[in-house]
Amino acid sequence: MNVVFPRSLPELFAALAEPGARILAGGTDLLVRLRAQPEAAAPATLVSLERIAALHNVAEEAGGQSHSLDGVFGPARLPGTLHRVVRLGAACTHAELLAHPLVRARLPVLAQALAVLGSPPVRNMGTLGGNLCTASPAGDCLPPLLALGAEVELASASGARRLALADFLLGPGRTALAPGEALIAVHVPVPGVDVRQHFEKVGRREALAVAVVSLAALVRLGHGGIIAEARLAWGSVGPTVWRCPEAEAALIGRRLSLTALSEAAALVRARVRPIDDVRASADYRREVAGNLLLRLAEL
Ligand SMILES: Cc1cc2nc3c(=O)[nH]c(=O)nc-3n(C[C@H](O)[C@H](O)[C@H](O)COP(=O)(O)OP(=O)(O)OC[C@H]3O[C@@H](n4cnc5c(N)ncnc54)[C@H](O)[C@@H]3O)c2cc1C
Repeated sequence: MNVVFPRSLPELFAALAEPGARILAGGTDLLVRLRAQPEAAAPATLVSLERIAALHNVAEEAGGQSHSLDGVFGPARLPGTLHRVVRLGAACTHAELLAHPLVRARLPVLAQALAVLGSPPVRNMGTLGGNLCTASPAGDCLPPLLALGAEVELASASGARRLALADFLLGPGRTALAPGEALIAVHVPVPGVDVRQHFEKVGRREALAVAVVSLAALVRLGHGGIIAEARLAWGSVGPTVWRCPEAEAALIGRRLSLTALSEAAALVRARVRPIDDVRASADYRREVAGNLLLRLAEL
């Protein structure tokens, strides 16, 4: 197998246009899969993202420059959010993002998820782009980014496009990436200071655990501590990240109390459709999906 190291986006797109080419980011998913299934057709060429500086940037941009604020993305944004967007390069490692001041200050819900993703070696090698393109229902970056209303920037030799993350993730291992296309960056609207952010993952052990159920929550408290908006996204309870509009709506106009959260949790348990697998039963996942909401009373 050949490995190539393009140094720019045009070089990347040229390499991806070759038959049998496949992107290699950190390799923590891809190389494990290739080793586990040696009989599967191996890519002729692995195209490494390591040396493309444009994919390693993190920057805050004025929202006015962002496609996400011109109406296409409007309904997905919390009304309290500032007109700022954090652009995360797809090849940033989890460790780089976790250490980045912008991520820690503006997107604590993502930082909380990155802190419990895998182990230090996995965070040092694994990238944001790899996590999203693997599209595992247990991928730890997915619930926070969906709750935040993130958009993905995709590009190929024939041009660039932007998609809401919800439209990018099609199912386990399936995304809207077209042949020859790469995920370039993730654009995340910055929530206002009145938005509380929270992530929690339940696994089968304390460390290096794949999510059995996870929840990312953004709750905007208005005047008098009344909930003005809630965005809730669960991982590992369906083929892709799952939101429960009924539970979100039930919280509006209430205080962040155990009573309100218990009522919303009952709606979650009634609507969520998890599966049984080697890590947990569907019944356990349903119960925990509701219980994770109760933690928001501590925010
Ligand atoms: C021991 C271990 C523990 C783990 N624990 C966790 C965990 O707790 N939580 C979790 O979420 N994940 C976990 N993972 C999975 C994995 O580490 C993450 O999903 C990681 O983010 C994958 O990123 P990567 O850069 O290594 O992707 P790679 O393996 O390099 O690539 C994965 C897939 O995405 C494609 N791809 C990568 N980047 C791009 C791009 N920019 N554009 C288009 N396609 C792209 C590749 O072609 C490949 O198909 C674990 C893995 C291991 C081995």
